[in-house]
Amino acid sequence: MFFDILTLFPEMFTGPFDESIIKRAREKGIIEINLINIRDYTTDKHNTADDTPYGGGAGMVMKVEPIYRAWQDLHKKRGEVPVIMLSPQGRPLDQELVKDLSQEQGLILLCGHYEGIDERVKDLIVTDEISIGDYVLTGGELAAMVVVDAVARMIPGVLGDQESMIEDSFYNGLLDYPDYTRPREFMGLEVPEVLLSGNHGAIERWRRKEALKRTYLRRPDLLQKKILSKEELNLLEEIKQEIEGGKNG
Ligand code: SAM
Repeated sequence: MFFDILTLFPEMFTGPFDESIIKRAREKGIIEINLINIRDYTTDKHNTADDTPYGGGAGMVMKVEPIYRAWQDLHKKRGEVPVIMLSPQGRPLDQELVKDLSQEQGLILLCGHYEGIDERVKDLIVTDEISIGDYVLTGGELAAMVVVDAVARMIPGVLGDQESMIEDSFYNGLLDYPDYTRPREFMGLEVPEVLLSGNHGAIERWRRKEALKRTYLRRPDLLQKKILSKEELNLLEEIKQEIEGGKNG
């Protein structure tokens, strides 16, 4: 899968894309990340990519022409590909959306900066707007990194152990269960006995119950959206009783 990233600050991406899992996925050719400097598509001698807003007010606005020209170049090479503008006004990014995006052959990600981007860019080329949360960043670069990272790890071969993804928070509508590794005891805190038992059935049940309990306590909204199996409903009943018992006891 390819990610073509349109930005005024390509150097911001060095580091996050040159380490660990994403680095390996690039080296293996599973993902391709292309950084396109919008400034390369300016035509004046000062390479002007932003200007003051019509109507006055603070800040600068990214100009339509260089972005449009950069997109034209990509469009010739890639054909019809989703063009996603990172924006606090966009569709909130969640795991469902991440999964959908990972089905694409590639994405063009457009990073705003300053006050944002001339609205006509949206009218002409943007197919979707995505927000990474209800707060405002200085630019879309960090948001684009979040999108690439989350989408890339859904692509087969990117994670060493694809199984681990299935148990991650949100993947199956639940938060993940707690993890432990050596040592067995640290400052009086013991690893739960069941994890040392070697009993795979019991471990699986414990993990499922812990995942349900966490989700019930921290994100009950997720449980309302999830269709629970009979076993999960029984476990949830157990959890509720334990919590009630704890309160009364
Ligand atoms: N004036 C814009 C507004 O209030 O909607 C905010 C502009 S923001 C300072 C500059 C750029 O950062 C945006 O064009 C967008 O690309 C990016 N950005 C800021 N917050 C974001 C968020 N929560 N999610 C995705 N992108 C964001």
